[in-house]
Amino acid sequence: MDPSIVPEPAREAEIIENISEVLEIVKNKSTKNARLVLVSKTKPVSDIIAALKTNQLHYGENYIPNEIRWHYIGRLQSNKCKILASIPNLWAVETIDSAEKAKKMNDAWSAAGHGRPLNIFVQVNTSNEPNKGGVEQDLLESTCISIKDSCPDLNLLGLMTIGSVESSGMIPNPDFLKMLKLRDECSKALGSELELSMGMSNDYEHALEVGSNNVRVGSKIFGSRALKQ
Ligand SMILES: *Cc1c(COP(=O)(O)O)cnc(C)c1O
Repeated sequence: MDPSIVPEPAREAEIIENISEVLEIVKNKSTKNARLVLVSKTKPVSDIIAALKTNQLHYGENYIPNEIRWHYIGRLQSNKCKILASIPNLWAVETIDSAEKAKKMNDAWSAAGHGRPLNIFVQVNTSNEPNKGGVEQDLLESTCISIKDSCPDLNLLGLMTIGSVESSGMIPNPDFLKMLKLRDECSKALGSELELSMGMSNDYEHALEVGSNNVRVGSKIFGSRALKQ
């Protein structure tokens, strides 16, 4: 849920008032400290965001939109694989950063029994920043081969990078150029053509021009975010 979706003020006030009325009744009438489940089904996300302002965290839905294709783009911790694998419409994990984690993701996805492979991108640390996720460039090819050999329930769709802030201001972007080269080398080694996931709000146009297959655009569409997510 994106907190930068801003509900219309009158609607927000209405929802908040309705919740506080119901909460008041629940509080006064219940002898069990009853839980209030807000049934948000069929309502727009902006209504839920308005409701969240009351700090109510229980929501009822009878319909999980399965046409949404989720891309996991956060740092992947091994202990998150199982939770991720339980998401029915998880479409891709873009942040695989080692063969070991790929194997964990493969096994969790396999155990969850989706009956289709999970797309993954191997994240590459193109800028060699120590605090940035991703496989080191000289380990990339062997990592991809290892994943292809040992992860039958993963579909290695391509390579992903979050380029450095400095590179994102440059044309040509040196991180993108590295990715083009790495993609060609790995595709050759694997015998199948890999995609590239690169380009964010500041540099997606350039990324598209040099051949990115997948751009990840947030603030350009939804507005700026608070610094720490
Ligand atoms: C829709 C629904 C509700 C909420 O019904 P309202 O009359 O709108 O409060 C509650 N429980 C279930 C199972 C529902 O499908």
